Amino acid sequence: MAIAGTPSRTIRQLPMSVAPRHVAVIGAGAAGLVTARELRLAGLSVVVFEQGDQVGGTWVYTPRVESDPMGLRPMRATVHTSLYRSLRTNLPRECMGFRDYPFVPRDDPDRDPRRFPGHREVLMYLKDFAREFGIAQLVRLETEVVRVGLVEGSKWKVKSRKSGNDEAGVDEIFDAVVVCNGHFTEPRVAEIPGISKWPGKQIHSHNYRVPEPFRDQIVVLIGSSASGVDISRDIATAAKEVHIAARTFVDGTLGKQAGYDNLWLHPMIESVHEDGTVYFLDGRFILAEVILHCTGYKYHFPFLEMDGFVTLDDNRVGPLYKHIFPPVLAPWLSFVGLPWKVIPFPMFELQSKWIAGVLSDRLMLPSQQEMMEDVEAFYSSLEVSGTPKRYTHNMGDYQFEYIDWLAAQCGCPAHKEWRKEMYYSCSKNRYARPESYRDEWEDHHLLLQAHEDFMEHTS
Ligand code: FAD
Repeated sequence: MAIAGTPSRTIRQLPMSVAPRHVAVIGAGAAGLVTARELRLAGLSVVVFEQGDQVGGTWVYTPRVESDPMGLRPMRATVHTSLYRSLRTNLPRECMGFRDYPFVPRDDPDRDPRRFPGHREVLMYLKDFAREFGIAQLVRLETEVVRVGLVEGSKWKVKSRKSGNDEAGVDEIFDAVVVCNGHFTEPRVAEIPGISKWPGKQIHSHNYRVPEPFRDQIVVLIGSSASGVDISRDIATAAKEVHIAARTFVDGTLGKQAGYDNLWLHPMIESVHEDGTVYFLDGRFILAEVILHCTGYKYHFPFLEMDGFVTLDDNRVGPLYKHIFPPVLAPWLSFVGLPWKVIPFPMFELQSKWIAGVLSDRLMLPSQQEMMEDVEAFYSSLEVSGTPKRYTHNMGDYQFEYIDWLAAQCGCPAHKEWRKEMYYSCSKNRYARPESYRDEWEDHHLLLQAHEDFMEHTS
């Protein structure tokens, strides 16, 4: 069921900047766009730097891939997006969209009205958002930030240059910097005993686009995240055999996968060998031609001179108060979008509202010492629960607690119950029915509640 609606067509005017504070936003993906809007609504002066030739970030699909299929060579020319051609969202559009700009189907034959639309529809939605709030005029396209460093105590020197150009670049001074550069571009790979001598081809999912290059091949795919599940099914349409190696799986699910004659689930890889064999932890082995790493990504801020105030340690960006502000530099440096296993867009919306409130002196942060104590208490709790450092920004079960906390800081209502329930219902379905969860669902009552809620923003 889909209830069509169109957010108001008139371009909403943003107020003229009144405060002298000048803020640089790095990146014009979903996080950068909503951050720009919130900062402007708070009356700040904003420049958004975007290295690509259009807004939308991750959602700007390209068939291009990097020259290094594993994406490990530091000097490679990077491609930002990690989307594959067949990608449909893994969240229903109702709960995925910004809270005050619902992601509803458009009355337009060129648009994708499905509840879990293809990637192009998300890009169109973000472009609608940018147009509606007049954000495009704040964005400098094809402008890459190459360095951000502190000057004059608490001001920032931002060096940028035309993308792909080796010129020295231009320096500008800003009062504050908000980092919105995304974290699905720099591959993380699994360490596999024997891999340096294994003769097959390796590729990271960052550089996966279509199944055709794998036709008639035997592929081992590492990882069982949402992308791993999708890509294994995508490749199975062309490959001779696809073998998923997963760290976690439900008992009784190993072996040939129902509905396929060329897809198997195995425990993790134990080792690989010069003769091309891949051994799994249960002692079984196969002869494979390709290993596809669907093993996730690392945070990466090549432009940021951190001076020890913020460090990147085993994928922990810290210390950060509430995953946003480094206490020593707050509020003049902040990060939007670091937490994962979340509903991203509405979280970006609330994180950036909070930052905008603080930068415009409407909201106060605790003292530096109090923020540091909060971070230390958080790190201790992770240690006590045995959570590895690299999971510091994995929100998992507490994302809604976090969201509601942010909302309270900003004086906004908490997430509506339907959004939370829809998220859980979708996660359950995805797990139980990975092939069909996008087209068969049972949460009609939540859909109705969502659309009732949207009336406020779409009428
Ligand atoms: P990005 O979209 O990555 O944007 C960052 C921007 O910063 C880019 O435009 C980049 O060019 C720019 N940039 C980076 N460095 C610089 C620099 N030095 N100078 C200038 N510009 C720079 N989320 C969902 O809600 N639903 C889904 O179904 C979903 N599916 C996903 C599937 C895949 C395969 C992936 C990888 C992610 C998916 N996500 C999904 C998560 C998605 O990443 C977020 O929804 C969101 O789009 C991230 O937005 P962002 O602005 O933080 O980052």
